[in-house]
Amino acid sequence: MPRHSLGPSGVRLFVLYAVASLIPVVMLGVLLAGQAAAQANARGLARASADARLVSQGIIAPLLGDAPLPAGLGPATPNLRHNIAAIVADRQVLRLRLRDLDANIVFTSDGSSTTEKDEAARAARGTTIAFLPTLEADNGAGGIRVAEVYAPLRAAKTDSLIGVVEMYLPYAPIAADIDAQRRAQTRTLAAGLVVLWLVGLAVTGATTRRLRRSARDNAFLAAHDPLTRLANRRELLRLAARMTARAPAALLVFDLDRFRQVNDALGHQIGDRLLDEVADRLVAAAAPGEVVARLGSNEFAMVIGAASDEQALARLTDIAALLTAPLTLDGLPVMLEYSTGYALSPEDGTDPDMLLLKAEAAMFAAKQASLGPIRHRADLDTFDAGRLRLLGELAAAIRADQLVLHYQPKISLTSGAVASIEALVRWQHPSLGLLYPDAFLPAAEQTELIEALTTWVLAEALAAMNRLDPAGWLTIAVNVSARNLSKPNFALAVLAALTKAATPCARLVVEMTETAVLTAPEVVAANLATLAAAGVTISIDDFGAGQTSLAYLARLPIGELKIDRSFVHGMSADPRTAAIVQSMIDLGHSLGYTVTAEGAETEDDVTALTVSGCDQVQGYVYARPCPESEMATFLAARTTHESWLG
Ligand code: C2E
Ligand code: MG
Ligand code: MG
Repeated sequence: MPRHSLGPSGVRLFVLYAVASLIPVVMLGVLLAGQAAAQANARGLARASADARLVSQGIIAPLLGDAPLPAGLGPATPNLRHNIAAIVADRQVLRLRLRDLDANIVFTSDGSSTTEKDEAARAARGTTIAFLPTLEADNGAGGIRVAEVYAPLRAAKTDSLIGVVEMYLPYAPIAADIDAQRRAQTRTLAAGLVVLWLVGLAVTGATTRRLRRSARDNAFLAAHDPLTRLANRRELLRLAARMTARAPAALLVFDLDRFRQVNDALGHQIGDRLLDEVADRLVAAAAPGEVVARLGSNEFAMVIGAASDEQALARLTDIAALLTAPLTLDGLPVMLEYSTGYALSPEDGTDPDMLLLKAEAAMFAAKQASLGPIRHRADLDTFDAGRLRLLGELAAAIRADQLVLHYQPKISLTSGAVASIEALVRWQHPSLGLLYPDAFLPAAEQTELIEALTTWVLAEALAAMNRLDPAGWLTIAVNVSARNLSKPNFALAVLAALTKAATPCARLVVEMTETAVLTAPEVVAANLATLAAAGVTISIDDFGAGQTSLAYLARLPIGELKIDRSFVHGMSADPRTAAIVQSMIDLGHSLGYTVTAEGAETEDDVTALTVSGCDQVQGYVYARPCPESEMATFLAARTTHESWLG
């Protein structure tokens, strides 16, 4: 089963996202690391300041008096010198000076001196000042980085400012300490950012995967039948276009026979399993690259590589072997029967839409004739573009009352009276004018539209009948299609229409073609039985045009046989045709049917039919199909029941 994935583009998109999202993360990391480095120096200075304050207040101030330096220095000097030496040694202080409140140096640990007073002067006002200069070595060989701190010195007892402690601490140990801290922080920060990035990636990855999967599912559903997972009609057309563009191909359409009965008798679940099984068998029959599709409830299609009729038929034989292999559903053996039509590309066309319509038309023909695979032929084509457009408009036309009925009489040859009138549908199209049945009926008959059409015709014909012949002498003949008769509830719908129109069943004639019987013999027979039992006359239209055996028809409750007009007109000039007509009339009579000849155009035709013993005649010689008003005039001018009685 072909499945669609978004392919490598999805992966590329994800990598792009991963890289793109890394950029702000790295930038944030660099920014935070820079801030941490900047803070490191501030922290180093703070540490040095704290150290200096500890020394000044904790160690030095207690050694001094309350008087500002240098006065307070006097008596303590030797002791102080000793203690400061200890401090310098202990704390690895490089230099320690004491200054008075005017920033003059009053004591120094290493004998050094300076005239710089600014920082000391500010510290003398109570502020601790620290910075990180480089202390030049005496020998000039590079410098050493130090923390230079000026801390106010306050009297231990009174807390009044008495001087300033100036201290130089080597910065390296402080920096090492702080660097170690900073590195630890940076590591934590980096790890945090990486985790954050990975979590982001994981969430995005999962979401992308889910979105991708649902996009893929949606794309699949839009192009496939959910039950069988085969391509749908649209997808078939898309793939067929690709295949026919590359090489000769055949488009095959398969329609399961009696699928509805399986569904009705065994239930939908079994019906679904049957469809699944058919799908599997068709897929098994397909070569790589060929397409299998489900078009409708019981209709499947394939596009196969085939360059000739022979090749297509050979493949169809193989497919038939697979499709008709024994099948058991729910313990019941099921016979898989189907009808097949096909069209070849490029011979029958290359446009996939047209190929499909042609293959479908061929399939309908195969189904109606109960034949094996039929290839499309022009005469099967009920679907050219214009007809399809009309078909699209027909539903609305029926609702908008654009259909009209014309009426044509059947004349009794024994009495010369009108025996019946046949209703023939036309479509008063708003732009195309009056359309005859051959323009829209064949296409409508292959869709559900024919049901709405027949319903409309029947109701209208019965109503017209009541207007044209209130006395009730005539019968009205209505044409029905094979598709109507294959609907199980058709007969009941007809009887309901008769009841609604308050028309006796005996006044209705239902005309059907002989081939209609073949589409769904059991259902058709059941419908005919119901209608005939109620008193409706069943008439076989266009008799002789099909190949149905009369022996088969004889089993149906038929009341009238209408000889196809191709035999009738001109029979007077052709003894062979006259002989055929004669035998049809005799056969009909021997089965108890009324025999009507249609298509009599001349007096000669009528004479020949009278001689042959035909019961009724319909044709241009008497009247062309005409609107209801003209039919009313015709009926008024022509004796009907009186002469029939006479
Ligand atoms: P049909 O039932 O055999 O109707 C007779 C057709 O032969 C009519 O064509 C009629 O105009 C034509 N016809 C009548 N007398 C003569 C004649 O002397 N010479 C020639 N050459 N033709 C004659 P129309 O009306 O075009 O109908 C064609 C077919 O369409 C009908 O054949 C019938 O099968 C179908 N049809 C018409 N109305 C309906 C309808 O309401 N429902 C269904 N299902 N089919 C209909
Ligand atoms: Mg007819
Ligand atoms: Mg006919």
